[in-house]
Amino acid sequence: MNAPARSILVVDDAPDARLVMQAALRKAGYEVRMAADGDDALRQFRERPADLVMLDVDMPGRSGYEVCAELRAQAGVLLPIVMVTGLDDVGSVNAGYESGATDFFSKPINWAHFGHRLQYLFRTHEVTLNLSAAESRMAAILKALPDHLFELDLDGRLIDVWAPGAQPLAGLDGALVGRNVADVLPPPAASACMESLRSAHEHGSSNGHQFELSRGDARTWFELSVSRKAALAGETPRFILLARDITERKDAEQHITRLAYFDSLTGLPNRHTFLNRVDYEIRRGADTGQRLAVLFMDLDGFKNVNDTLGHSAGDRVLQAAADRLRASLRPTDLLARAGGAGRDVELARLGGDEFTALVLDIHCPDDALAVADRIGQAMRSPIRIDDRTLTLTASIGIAIHPDDGPDAETLLKHADTAMYHAKSTGRDNAQVYSAALTEHLRARMELDADLRVALERDQFRVVYQPQIDATSGRMHAVEALLRWQHPSRGVILPQDFIPLAEETGLIEAIGHWVLRTACAEAGAWMQAGAPMAVAVNLSPTQFRRPTLPQMVERVLADTGLPPELLEVEITEGVLMDNTATARALLQDLRAHGVRTALDDFGTGYSSLAYLTRMPIGKIKIDRVFVAGLLDGGESAAIVGAVLAMADSLGMDVTAEGVETLQQAQALMAIGCNYLQGYYLSRPVPAADVPALVAKRWRFDLLEPATIVVPLPGLQQPA
Ligand code: C2E
Ligand code: CA
Ligand code: CA
Repeated sequence: MNAPARSILVVDDAPDARLVMQAALRKAGYEVRMAADGDDALRQFRERPADLVMLDVDMPGRSGYEVCAELRAQAGVLLPIVMVTGLDDVGSVNAGYESGATDFFSKPINWAHFGHRLQYLFRTHEVTLNLSAAESRMAAILKALPDHLFELDLDGRLIDVWAPGAQPLAGLDGALVGRNVADVLPPPAASACMESLRSAHEHGSSNGHQFELSRGDARTWFELSVSRKAALAGETPRFILLARDITERKDAEQHITRLAYFDSLTGLPNRHTFLNRVDYEIRRGADTGQRLAVLFMDLDGFKNVNDTLGHSAGDRVLQAAADRLRASLRPTDLLARAGGAGRDVELARLGGDEFTALVLDIHCPDDALAVADRIGQAMRSPIRIDDRTLTLTASIGIAIHPDDGPDAETLLKHADTAMYHAKSTGRDNAQVYSAALTEHLRARMELDADLRVALERDQFRVVYQPQIDATSGRMHAVEALLRWQHPSRGVILPQDFIPLAEETGLIEAIGHWVLRTACAEAGAWMQAGAPMAVAVNLSPTQFRRPTLPQMVERVLADTGLPPELLEVEITEGVLMDNTATARALLQDLRAHGVRTALDDFGTGYSSLAYLTRMPIGKIKIDRVFVAGLLDGGESAAIVGAVLAMADSLGMDVTAEGVETLQQAQALMAIGCNYLQGYYLSRPVPAADVPALVAKRWRFDLLEPATIVVPLPGLQQPA
C-alpha cells in the first residue's frame, strides 16, 4: 500500500540552496517542486497545490512574508507553510507568524533532524485536519438537534451555549455565556437546572427535571438531561446540559388530563371529578356539621331536540344549558339571592342532558330549592338554534348531606330519584329527596320490568264499552279499553301503567297490539252477523308518528275490517302540539275512511276555536261535565255550548261517564243523544258484544216532567 508521496513546494532565490533542499527532501521520500521567487511560487501553487510550502524569507521582489500571507489567503488555514530564515531573531519570527506561517526553520538547516521535523509537522497537520472535520461534524449535529445545549459549571455558570438553528431559548434573549442560570431563568426553572446539575455531579448524569418558560402567551416546556464532562486533572467539574422542548408532549398530557376529568363538550368537570369533589367536601365539613346539597338536573324533552333538530343542534343546546348553569350559579349571585347559601358551587355534566351542581353551606332544603329555582329561571329564557326558538326547561332533584346520604354516590343516586319525581310531577320543577321516593321509584321500576314482558306473555286484554244512541236505544259503537292481567296483582287499569308505557316508549308496541286486537275482534263480530264500529284510543306518542296512517291501513287490510267501522280517539293535547301536522294526519286517516274522535273534551285547552279547522267527526265530552250536570254549576252551560258548536260544525257529540238515568235524561233533554257510561254498560269482553248489538236501551222509566235540569238561559220544561 503505497500512498502517493506528499508534495512540497520549495521557494528560494538561491539555486544552490534549492538544490540542497531538493536532494534532502527527495531522500526523505517527498515529491519536490521548486520556485525561484514569490510570483513563480504563487503561480505554481495556483496551478497545482502542494501539501506543504517551504518559503525563504529573504528574496528579491516579494518577500517571504508577503508570499506567505498571499498563500494563506489562497489555500486557507490548513496548509502548512514553513518559513526558512537566516534571521534568527524574535522580530522576524513574529512577522512570520503574523503573516500565517505554520513553523520556522532557521539556516543553517540541521539536515540530520530535517526529515523528522517535517514528519512531525505533517502529523500535527493531520491532527488539525481531523479536529476540524470533527468540529464541523459536531456543528452539523448541533444544528440538526432540536435541543438546546449548555456547558455549565457546578455553580450554574454558563460556559457555552448552543441553540438549534441559533434560536435563543424561548423567552431568553441576549448573551448567556458567562452568566449564571439563576440570573437568566425564572426561579422554578433555575432550581430545576441546579437540581439536575447536583444530581449529575453525584451520579454522572441526571434526567427528567422539567421547567416551563413563557413569552407572552406562548409557553414552552423543557426537559433536562445533564451529564458530567470528563474533566482533566485539576479542572473544576463541567456539565453538558441538554434542554429538550417537550411542549407538544405536555400539551398532549394536558389534553388527556382534560379528557379524564372534564367533559369535552361543555368544559365542565365530569362525573368522576364531581364525585371526588363532593366526597372531599363531605370529609372537610365532617367536624363542622356543614350541610351541602347535590342538585341533579335533567333537561326536559331533550331527546326530542336531538331527534328533530339533529345532534349538532343538540350539542349546542347542551352548551347553552352549561353556560346558563354557570351564569346562574356564580358564587356572588348566590350569596345575594339565595339568602347567604352556597358559598361555592361546583358544576358538572354527567353525560347526555344530565348536569349536577354541588352547593356548599346550606342551612335548610329551602336554600337548595332557591338555587334550583334560579337554575330553572335561567334555563327558561328562549334560545335560538338555527332559525328556531326553543325554550328549555329542567327537572331538578335535590339531595342534602348529611340527611339524605353519607357519601357522594348515595347523594347523587337520591338526587336522581328526586329528579325523576320532578319529571313525573309535570317537569320544569324541583323536588327534594325523601325516603318515600325511593320506595315509589322501586315500585315503578318493578312495574316497568313487568310491563316489558306483558306483551310477549299475553297478559293484555281488550274490553269494549258500548256507546248508545239514545234516540233509537241501540248501540252505535264500542270503545276498546285496555286491561292488563298482572300475574300477581290482578287486573291493572290503564291509568296505572299507560303513563309509564308512554315514558318508556313501550306504548307504541302496546298501542299497535290494541289496534290489531280491536280490529280483529270487530272483524269477528261482523263475520258473526253483528257488525259494530270500534273506537280505539291512540296515545300521543302513536299520533306523533308520521307513518300512523299506513300502519292503520295495514292493520285494516290484515284484519279485513272496513275502515268505516274503525274510529280513532285522540286527546286535545296532541292537536295543540303541532297543529299543522296533526291536521294533515287526521285528514290522511279520514281519506282512508277511518273516523276520528276528540277524547276528554273540555279537560285540556278548552279552546273551541281550533276545532273548526280540524277534521274531526266526533267530540267526547269528558265525564267531569256529565258528573256536574245536575249540580247547578257551569257544566250544563258548557255542555250546551259544545253541543251548539258541534252541531254547526256537523260533528257528533258523545257524553262519557253517564252513571245515572237522570244524567242520561238530562243529556237527552239538551240534545245530546250519544251516551257512554256505567249506567248503560260497563266494558265487556269481546265475546259479549254481539249480544249487545241486538239489545235495546230504554230511557222512559221516568216521566220527562220530573227531570229538573238547571240550564241557564234555556227554557225549563213546564
Ligand atoms: P278514556 O278514553 O276516557 O276511557 C274511558 C274511561 O272511563 C275508561 O276507563 C272507562 O272504563 C271509564 N268509564 C266508562 N264509563 C264510566 C262511568 O260511568 N263512570 C266512570 N267513573 N268511569 C267510566 P279505563 O278503561 O280505566 O281507561 C282509562 C283511560 O285509559 C282511558 O280514558 C284512556 O285514556 C286510557 N286507555 C284505555 N285504553 C287505552 C288504550 O288501548 N290505549 C291508550 N292509549 N289509552 C287507553
Ligand atoms: Ca277514550
Ligand atoms: Ca274519555
